[in-house]
Amino acid sequence: MISYVDLRDFEDAFKNILENVKKIFKENYSTKCKKCGAKSEVIHFRWERQEKDIKIKRLKDAGEINRNLVSITYKCENCGYGSDKPEKYDIDVSTQPYLNNSPKYLINKKLQLKHSSEAKDYFDLFTPRNLFFLSVIYDEINKISVSKIKDLMRLVFSSCLTQSSKLIMYTEKGIRPEVSERSKSWIATRFHIQRNYLEKNPLINFKNSFETVFKAKKESNNLIEDCIFVDTFEDLFKGKGNVLIINDSVDYINDIPPESIDYVITDPPFVKDVNYIELSQLWLFWLFNKDPDFEKEIRCKESMDNYKKQMINVFEKIKKVLKKDKYLTVTYRADEPKMWDTMIQCPTEAGFYLTKIVPHAIGHSIGARYRQLMAKGTPDMAEEKHKLILGYFYLTFNKKEQLT
Ligand SMILES: [Zn+2]
Repeated sequence: MISYVDLRDFEDAFKNILENVKKIFKENYSTKCKKCGAKSEVIHFRWERQEKDIKIKRLKDAGEINRNLVSITYKCENCGYGSDKPEKYDIDVSTQPYLNNSPKYLINKKLQLKHSSEAKDYFDLFTPRNLFFLSVIYDEINKISVSKIKDLMRLVFSSCLTQSSKLIMYTEKGIRPEVSERSKSWIATRFHIQRNYLEKNPLINFKNSFETVFKAKKESNNLIEDCIFVDTFEDLFKGKGNVLIINDSVDYINDIPPESIDYVITDPPFVKDVNYIELSQLWLFWLFNKDPDFEKEIRCKESMDNYKKQMINVFEKIKKVLKKDKYLTVTYRADEPKMWDTMIQCPTEAGFYLTKIVPHAIGHSIGARYRQLMAKGTPDMAEEKHKLILGYFYLTFNKKEQLT
């Protein structure tokens, strides 16, 4: 995201992928229109758990829960969007052994789980069909010769994985015609396979992700200067380049000379337990073929005191490397007031002073709710005050010694 990328090249690469996968998707990720019989692109398949399995409560007993294909939503070129019960043909196609044709690198892996899940292996997170079609897209990405474009396309790919998995729950009828059911993802912050889930067309998900990343790239292209990457702090401080990406835990701060940094912005793990490392397996599998490293993750699940201790330690390290009078910004989200206490307390105990709180501008965050309420004038405090401090905010702290 911080490298300048020619948007035309990025878009050309995307169009090229679409062109190359068009045929295989059209022929295989399809159904017959139930009105006119024409071959139609499937938007999603809907799977439901069989009635006799619904009583299964304990997840560890539920390894082999079967779902039935109950409906297909598609787009017919003659009749428009449609949604209907599957025919035998659809069921046969849906239960084909797709993975027999999968590429060699697609080797199943045990998931490392800290939380119970119906999914034991990586492949359990997807239908065989979606795994196969994701690999079709991924193969095309790997053919891109310009590494900057390839990396950005891998980002697009990784961001469409959740939508292409079984972690997508469907709820009631949607508003838009192309979505006959509304879908929700990450209902729980663990690999929770929904009892009834949607198998969404990975190519549509990939297109949506591309649009999002393209928009972001357009914005970031205007904001960044040319990046010259270096591999060490020494080279960075000598001015041999202007970017060093470390990709490690906060321990690396020990290598930075004291009072040498102008500004720190950080996005720490939330007080509410989110299993970032565990969940990152969804992307790691494709991008790095790497196992997650749980050792260095700061989490509050086991003990709140331990979380605070570790966070204070991090902020102390940051304070050491920050220049005098400079600032630290922490981007943070909280669902309860007491989480804010903790998040202000940790930098404060490390010797920082809170100077500013600004809500995120993201439309869907509850920080935006704050903006809305404030725009309307004074909110009805009795009803709304608890909502004001929920959601995403930037907290800025100053290193300056307190005068009083
Ligand atoms: Zn039709």
